[in-house]
Amino acid sequence: MAISKIFENTEVAFRLKSDSELERAYFLFKMISHEPLVRIGTAATNFALKARLPVEGLIRSTVFDHFCGGVNEEDCLPVIDRMYAKGVSSVLDYSVEGKEIESHFDAAMEKTLKIINFADEKKSMPIAVFKPTGFGRFHLYQKKGEGKPFTPKEQEEWERVVARFDKVCKLAKEKDVEILIDSEQSWMQDAADDLCEAMMRKYNTGVPVVYNTLQLYRWDRLDYLKSLHKRAKKDGFTVGAKIVRGAYMEKERERAEEEGYESPICATKEATDLNFDETLEYILRNLDTISLFIGTHNEQSCYLAMQLMADLGIDKSDNRVWFGQLYGMSDHISFNLAEHGYNVAKYVPFGPVKDVMPYLIRRAEENTSVAGQTSRELSLIKTERKRRKL
Ligand SMILES: Cc1cc2nc3c(=O)[nH]c(=O)nc-3n(C[C@H](O)[C@H](O)[C@H](O)COP(=O)(O)OP(=O)(O)OC[C@H]3O[C@@H](n4cnc5c(N)ncnc54)[C@H](O)[C@@H]3O)c2cc1C
Repeated sequence: MAISKIFENTEVAFRLKSDSELERAYFLFKMISHEPLVRIGTAATNFALKARLPVEGLIRSTVFDHFCGGVNEEDCLPVIDRMYAKGVSSVLDYSVEGKEIESHFDAAMEKTLKIINFADEKKSMPIAVFKPTGFGRFHLYQKKGEGKPFTPKEQEEWERVVARFDKVCKLAKEKDVEILIDSEQSWMQDAADDLCEAMMRKYNTGVPVVYNTLQLYRWDRLDYLKSLHKRAKKDGFTVGAKIVRGAYMEKERERAEEEGYESPICATKEATDLNFDETLEYILRNLDTISLFIGTHNEQSCYLAMQLMADLGIDKSDNRVWFGQLYGMSDHISFNLAEHGYNVAKYVPFGPVKDVMPYLIRRAEENTSVAGQTSRELSLIKTERKRRKL
């Protein structure tokens, strides 16, 4: 049976947006479709924040409110409830980045624990998330992954990172809340992968609770998944896999070139797409031992997942398959999938305005550089404006 095209329904896509919110979204995507504007805007914003100029209000009423749920978790509740009324769940994402001191790592862990406890009480938040570098220093992961010996002090520091992972995964297991662990740059990822595997061994004893992220712009990830899967079957644990294409392509290529090693990134976009699709299929064919979270804004990948689910007789609402998009992006995918009975969750970033700037800048740059993505958002908004006028 062929899957029907469901993403063109803009009425469903934007029904949570008032006319003025729709106008703001239009204005925003129009602005960030201009690369020079994003570059100048980013530099000006960074400067203004450093110089303590009063720009927070402006950021808040434009990019921030579009891409973030609020400055703290309570702030996000109205957004979460409104989305859930339309069948879309939320993954609260504490998006403060680049703070490399112990007190911040502890604070990020406490936030994640709080969100898991929060999620336990609310059906609208069945999943939580954290970033490895939210719990420990980037260079510590890198050193660990490279197999270089730690000093006694670093060893203690590493043990605190392991303890943070463990505390969060343990609570997730107790509360039956799935925990997604984001992936970052490849040169710190080996150590994070090993830690994720250790958590899966401990806590994925039945239906998976702990999910690692596979970035499929990396050509080695399907082989990695297959070897992890083999170990899981042999040693009696299950695998949670969040699949994404990957957000650090330019940095990855630059570093590989500078340091003279083979780039870990697929040579072309088509190769990444193929890798993504093959991995998607491998997981859907092994759902008894691997659960799946599909993090993408790519319509074709979503249609493929829907088609494979139908062909393999997997129920649309099977709890082992989730679709995920970021808040403020691709509502036409999220809300139409939910309307048709699929499990969908949106990442809802939150945090103090100036601390989520790296996240916001990544979103602006992504919407500038990803050919087609912004123009797609713009054309969908235009269609919806026209429909509302009629
Ligand atoms: C819910 C969710 C969670 C996410 N979590 C993470 C995470 O943990 N870690 C992370 O790194 N990213 C994460 N991302 C971001 C993600 O990796 C992508 O950057 C983003 O979603 C765009 O990819 P796409 O599949 O939506 O769509 P598309 O627009 O189809 O793909 C764009 C992507 O394709 C790849 N690509 C583009 N050009 C080329 C090229 N020339 N050669 C090879 N590959 C190319 C890049 O990865 C680029 O980001 C997440 C995204 C979502 C929606």
